[in-house]
Amino acid sequence: MEKIKMTTPLVEMDGDEMTRILWKMIKDELLLPFIDLKTEYYDLGLEYRDQTNDQITVDSAMATKKYGVAVKCATITPNAARVEEYHLKEMWKSPNGTIRALLDGTVFRTPIIVKGIEPNVKTWKKPITIARHAYGDVYKATEMKIPAAGKCELVYTNEAGEEVRELIHNFTGAGIIQGQHNTVASITSFAKSCFNFALDTKQDLWFATKDTISKKYDHTFKDIFQEVFDAEYAEKFKEAGITYFYTLIDDAVARVIRSEGGYIWACKNYDGDVMSDMVSTAFGSLAMMTSVLVSPEGYYEYEAAHGTVQRHYYKHLKGEETSTNSVATIFAWTGALRKRGEIDGIEALIDFADKLEDATIETIESGTMTKDLALMTSLENVTVANSEEFIQAIAANLRAKLEK
Ligand code: NAP
Ligand code: MG
Repeated sequence: MEKIKMTTPLVEMDGDEMTRILWKMIKDELLLPFIDLKTEYYDLGLEYRDQTNDQITVDSAMATKKYGVAVKCATITPNAARVEEYHLKEMWKSPNGTIRALLDGTVFRTPIIVKGIEPNVKTWKKPITIARHAYGDVYKATEMKIPAAGKCELVYTNEAGEEVRELIHNFTGAGIIQGQHNTVASITSFAKSCFNFALDTKQDLWFATKDTISKKYDHTFKDIFQEVFDAEYAEKFKEAGITYFYTLIDDAVARVIRSEGGYIWACKNYDGDVMSDMVSTAFGSLAMMTSVLVSPEGYYEYEAAHGTVQRHYYKHLKGEETSTNSVATIFAWTGALRKRGEIDGIEALIDFADKLEDATIETIESGTMTKDLALMTSLENVTVANSEEFIQAIAANLRAKLEK
């Protein structure tokens, strides 16, 4: 079999712990035998981030701007324990945060659906993708405890020094206040990323806020989405046969539960935080959730939604067997390869990505899976595979598909 040729490199961001081990297995067993894999390699493993004073993370984000498509392995976000464990020079920032800040993107999380791992919500037949706005609101809020009676106001001072004031509350006793903000630029980027992703994946886009109560703040989100849609996307949506749908957040929650899935649900920052945990839990497992960062300029960075699976890595280091689920990491690669194929017009690469995804799903549906899935599947006669066996079983299925 001749290997599939690539014309433009993928930006490859290697990572940490158990996912770093899976990363190499996936490349060796599922990619390199079939593809003349072109990547520009960035080692975001914690040791190398520390050696380069985290410059490597910045470089990998800049490379993503240059080439357009990246695939990322899970990485450690250092805390005090990690600083000690790895003798770090500093408590480096979250690589995902750094990359997101440089690409200014929105994160889309989608569950991978397989027969035998049924969602808790019986009506859900297709994936629900959550798009979370990753800037502002309560995450950048300023808060104050009000000790006793007194007046609280919002004050805006423009560059000429003129003030506008709005009364928040005349306190008659102790209380609390909070000031939130967002920017038109960030909300506009968020809207564009969502509309682009909907077109890209040919799915309807839902958006919801509490605009009936928050008549200026949330209403501005609603208005910006509508303006961007009317100006740049209405025609394209019509051509693609998809719709943009706005509703109140309460109504959205009710509809989501009754729906069969198959759409993108755009959420403000807090709603996205809470709802993505609900959706991923209801679909079964974080190990079956993919994640892609899409910038308003159309750069893509694919990864798994889970972390580095530290507990399994320590078992691996002790020489014990692990059964770590590589599905989300495999789908990060297929997402990136498919996108590269689409941009570069390489049909064989798109076809390969489809077949690798099918081979992965069929492996599970035929009863071979890792322990996390075996614990929750409704299938009988399941074979629990270790980390390597699972990838090898997928490789066998993939080979059969490619030889057809
Ligand atoms: P985690 O790596 O997602 O793992 C938490 C637990 O979930 C695991 O111990 C395991 O449960 C289960 N799990 C997650 N992924 C699995 C998989 N692929 N296969 C089987 N089981 C899986 O989260 P964490 O332990 O809280 O974080 C570990 C490190 O990851 C941290 O240093 C954190 O900074 C980093 N992190 C990185 C990212 C990212 O790069 N995007 C995201 C989140 C966290 P059992 O132990 O019960 O088997
Ligand atoms: Mg959360």
